[in-house]
Amino acid sequence: MPSIPDTAGTRAEAGAEVAAVHVHEVEHVYGTAGNAVTALGPISLTVPRGSFLVIVGASGCGKSTLLRLIAGFERPTFGTVRTGGVEPVPGRGAGIVFQQPRLFPWKTVGGNVELALRYAGVPRGERARRVPRLLERVGLHDVADRRIWQISGGQQQRVAIARALAGDDPLLLLDEPFAALDALTRERLQEDLRRVSAETGRTSVFVTHSVEEAVFLGTRVVVLTRRPGRIALDLDITLPRTGTAPDELRALPDYAAFRTAVGQAVRAAAE
Ligand code: ADP
Ligand code: MG
Repeated sequence: MPSIPDTAGTRAEAGAEVAAVHVHEVEHVYGTAGNAVTALGPISLTVPRGSFLVIVGASGCGKSTLLRLIAGFERPTFGTVRTGGVEPVPGRGAGIVFQQPRLFPWKTVGGNVELALRYAGVPRGERARRVPRLLERVGLHDVADRRIWQISGGQQQRVAIARALAGDDPLLLLDEPFAALDALTRERLQEDLRRVSAETGRTSVFVTHSVEEAVFLGTRVVVLTRRPGRIALDLDITLPRTGTAPDELRALPDYAAFRTAVGQAVRAAAE
């Protein structure tokens, strides 16, 4: 098993300029003086373009903080964060999916995606062409004209994914997007996200506390320690990305081995 400080260090040196995400010696503190809480770090992490990084860790270890720093919603107390080589600007350069879909309920499925395209500056005619393609990609072409309140939770989360893909941003950030879904729907969405990510080649950073989900989705899994979150394990997941059906993938001996390794690290990190 590759151990973390070594690989993380070399990756940081090699990919600093071109990396999709570059987190350098970051520490994040909420509050001040007497009630200061160090939520994260110190942590360094370089995410090469095209990878699917999954961050796993117990509740409260700083996963969302790390994602918010990468999205530019927060600025690190110490250290630097770069996306595509520059300081991240909120709402630019990254599509974001949260645990709750946060859609416009009175608009249609297609209308929500169309709005995202409009925000991204896509002209009207081009928007009309792209909406069906985006909906097709997430399996929603049949419900394009339904209102958000007329579709299921799983479908709503699919709309949120389509919306995040709409801007053609090079980066996709997902914070426990499937946590509120039932197990079957969750598996289905994981399978589709895995396929979509392979198709689009988009760099993704996905946060979860599910070991199973991490190993299934990631090309790389980073396990964080308890707060303040630091890297406890940094593992390349060398499972096939295409050409293997989800059930076959889950039945591979390597899949079980990765799940065990990540599971052990998560448990050890929680102690
Ligand atoms: P996770 O997503 O892994 O559950 P978070 O990044 O949300 O963890 O939070 C990490 C720690 O920072 C937690 O202890 C949390 O209570 C604290 N925290 C998060 N956001 C804030 C905030 N805005 N102000 C103060 N403390 C915060
Ligand atoms: Mg969180």
